[in-house]
Amino acid sequence: MEADPLEPLRRKFPGKSREWLRRALARVGDVSEGPGYYVVRGRPELGDRYPQYHVWWSEAERRWVCTCYLTEWGQRRARDICTHVAAVILYRAHRSVEAREGRYYLATAVVECPERPAADGEVYARQVAGRSIADYARPRWRVAVVSRRPRVVVTCRGRPVAELDGVEAAYGEARVLAEEYVDYLKGPT
Ligand SMILES: [Zn+2]
Repeated sequence: MEADPLEPLRRKFPGKSREWLRRALARVGDVSEGPGYYVVRGRPELGDRYPQYHVWWSEAERRWVCTCYLTEWGQRRARDICTHVAAVILYRAHRSVEAREGRYYLATAVVECPERPAADGEVYARQVAGRSIADYARPRWRVAVVSRRPRVVVTCRGRPVAELDGVEAAYGEARVLAEEYVDYLKGPT
């Protein structure tokens, strides 16, 4: 039996038609990165009325939002997901997968450190907002590390402060999860 190349997409976007998945896939090459948002070039042959659409992550809504949700068709689309947003999701994963093959591990922790912690791998870190004078005196960081190694040591000024067991994941997945982990701080912690 021949493998369907759209099968992974179908799992990612359940309930969508083949045509919808194809449109999302066709847009991946039209995605570019702006400061804090993505730009998807509009294509009349795919039903677009505007030369470009902006897609961004809404922390308030906890989901991706597209400027097409603001148009006349938007009310219907806003309840669901448009192919601009789908293209951005695929672009983010694809871009990563393309660049990095093989096994990766994701490790997360909250550590205390006067400066940005380090680790062997790609470090995503965000300082936890302080609530008291003591918090400011001893800054805490939410840290996510995407590493080639299953065991990840987080260091603060060269000293180990945490030894973590990473969870195996594809690079793209690990990266998206790492970003979401540190971004979670924008909400209550
Ligand atoms: Zn859209």
